[in-house]
Amino acid sequence: MATIKYRRILLKLSGEALAGEQGYGIDPDVISGIASEIKEVIGLGVEIAVVIGGGNIFRGLAASSKGMDRASADYMGMLATVMNSLAMQDALEKQGVVTRVQSAIDMQQIAEPYIRRRAVRHLEKGRVVIFSAGTGNPYFTTDTAASLRAMEINAEVILKATKVDGIYSADPKKDKNAVKLPTLTYLEVLQKGLQVMDATATSLCMDNDLPMIIFDMTHRGNIKKVVLGDKIGTIVMG
Ligand code: UDP
Repeated sequence: MATIKYRRILLKLSGEALAGEQGYGIDPDVISGIASEIKEVIGLGVEIAVVIGGGNIFRGLAASSKGMDRASADYMGMLATVMNSLAMQDALEKQGVVTRVQSAIDMQQIAEPYIRRRAVRHLEKGRVVIFSAGTGNPYFTTDTAASLRAMEINAEVILKATKVDGIYSADPKKDKNAVKLPTLTYLEVLQKGLQVMDATATSLCMDNDLPMIIFDMTHRGNIKKVVLGDKIGTIVMG
């Protein structure tokens, strides 16, 4: 039997990961595909927490650049992450996976409030915990929320799902000599200004020695591969 490398993980999905071909909103087939991958990994006995972005619905920065008050726009962005989280909960529960959505902004009719100890208890019981509403603060991102929550629940790694199979030395679409970098340090990510995770999230991981793995979510089975220790994507560590 394959050995499991990571027993508690935090999976970070961008809002766009749920959007499919059309690039906005939520594609039912895409979200159900992601749910079945999560189900498979839960079946291995791995504990999974999820943070989902909101960029497929609303981004605070984009709205504020068109004149909207930044804090209000960011609160709208956080609400978008709650919508995505409820959609993911629905997709998971349709496949028989027990989930809890917790929200950093109180909205008790639709989500539990974020309570760290309760979240950990859910994980121990094999439930998927979806952390919604980011950090609950404007001017932050869901990447930072993912780092923060990962630390709080003692996750062993953050898996950042993207549409590319890792970090490259240059843009592979523009430079045919670009090579994939299997390992990077946090400092390299920060110094080179690589847009894999925002700087706040990266420095939080650096200060607390939490590895991040950037991997391609468009290939089915990749979450499982990472959990089993297959060297796919790029690992960022100290
Ligand atoms: N957001 C915020 N505080 C947080 C997390 C998110 O204000 O702690 C807002 C922000 O406006 C952001 C939006 O929510 O643009 C959606 O999150 P994000 O851009 O991180 O989503 P992703 O790019 O992962 O889809």
